Amino acid sequence: MSSMQEYMNLGEQYILKTYNRFPVVFEKGDGVRLIDMDGKKYLDFAAGIAVFALGYHNKEYDAALKDQIDKILHTSNLYYNRPSIEAAEKIVRTSGMSKVFFTNSGTEAIEGALKVARKYAYLKDNSKDYEFIAMNHSFHGRSQGALAVTGNAHYQDGFVPVGMRAVFADFNDLEDVKSKITDKTCGIICEVVQGEGGIYPAKKEFLEGLRALCDEKDILLIFDEVQCGMGRCGAMYAHELYGVKPDVMALAKALGCGVPVGAFVTGEKASHALVPGDHGTTYGGNPFATAAVSKVFDLYESEHIIDHVKEVGDYLYQQLEALKDKYSQIIDHRGLGLMQGIEMDVPVGNIVAKALNQGLVIISAGANIIRFVPPLVISREDVDEMIRILDQVLSECGIN
Ligand SMILES: *Cc1c(COP(=O)(O)O)cnc(C)c1O
Repeated sequence: MSSMQEYMNLGEQYILKTYNRFPVVFEKGDGVRLIDMDGKKYLDFAAGIAVFALGYHNKEYDAALKDQIDKILHTSNLYYNRPSIEAAEKIVRTSGMSKVFFTNSGTEAIEGALKVARKYAYLKDNSKDYEFIAMNHSFHGRSQGALAVTGNAHYQDGFVPVGMRAVFADFNDLEDVKSKITDKTCGIICEVVQGEGGIYPAKKEFLEGLRALCDEKDILLIFDEVQCGMGRCGAMYAHELYGVKPDVMALAKALGCGVPVGAFVTGEKASHALVPGDHGTTYGGNPFATAAVSKVFDLYESEHIIDHVKEVGDYLYQQLEALKDKYSQIIDHRGLGLMQGIEMDVPVGNIVAKALNQGLVIISAGANIIRFVPPLVISREDVDEMIRILDQVLSECGIN
C-alpha cells in the first residue's frame, strides 16, 4: 500500500499537468464530509465544484445507480432508453421548456446551445455570417468548437464557417449589450449568476432587457445554468427567480450529482432548429447517467431541497454578513441561495489552502473571492462549523 504522498507523486508523474492540485487524495465521502486516504475528515463546502448537491451516499441515489448497473449501462442514441425519457420529462416539467438533449458535460451543453442559435439564425436567411454576444468575465467551458476540427462537410452543414465568433459586453450593462448588437448577432449567452467570474448575480432589469432585445431581433437568449441551476440559488432554475425565460438553457454540474452529465434544453421557439443529423453523441443520455438525473429530480422533490436551500441559504447569508462586519478586508459579499462569495482585498489562495489543512474544503472564484457552493443538504450546524473554522483561518492569516 502506497501512502497518500506516494500517490500524489504518481499523480504528478502520470497525469497531464493542467492543474495545480491541493495536496490531498480524497478517498470517500459521507454526507457533507470528505475523507482522505489517511482517514482525516473534512467539511465540504465545495461539493466537487457545485456538483454533489445531495451529499455523499444518499441511499436512494446510490441504490438507483446500482440498480441501473444491474440492468444496462449503455445502449447509444440509435435506440430509446427509459431513464433518458423519464429524466427528460422531469426537466421539461420543472422548467416549462420543450425538449432536452443530454450531453456528458457542461461544455458540451454549451456547444449544443450555441449550435441551436446558429442554426436558428441560418434557417431564417441562410446567412453563414453570425456572431454571439457573450459577457465579460463569463465562463462557459473549455472546448473551442469541436466542429472546427471535424473534417466532414456533412457535420458542418448549416454551421460553416466553424469556430465560434463572439463579441463581449459587460455583464449587467444592457446599454453595452445593445451597442454590440449587429445584423450578424445570432444569440446572447450569459450565466444567470456568474460563477467562476466571481459570484455576480444578474440584475433583474438586465435579464428582462436581454429578453426584450432577443425578442425584438428574433435571436436566441441562452442561459448558462450549469452552475447556478439545479436548485443552487433557491429555485430549480435560477432564471425563475427573475421571471425571465431563455430560449435555450444549459445544465450540468448538479444535474447528475456526481455522474458526468449535462443537457441543453430548448424552449418552444428554438426546438425545431436542430434536426436529425445536426447533432449527436455516443454517450450523451446514456441509461446510467440519466438514471442518476431522474433520481436526482425525485429526491429534490421528496427531500424538499429547494425549500431547504432557501432557508439555509438565508442563514449562510446572515453568517457571512456577520463575518464581513468583523473583517474590514472582506470588501464584498454576494450571491443567491447556496451560491455565495466573499471578496477580499487580498488573494485568497493561502486562506483556501489553510482551511483545507484545518479540515474545511472551500474554493476560490478568481484570485480574491472565496466561493461557497456546498452540498444543498447542508445544515445550519454545518454552516456554523464552517464559519468557526474560516474565522480562525482568517485571523491566523493575519486578516483584519
Ligand atoms: C462548470 C461550468 C461550465 C463547464 O462545465 P464542464 O462540465 O466543466 O464542462 C460551463 N458553464 C458554467 C457556468 C460552469 O460553471
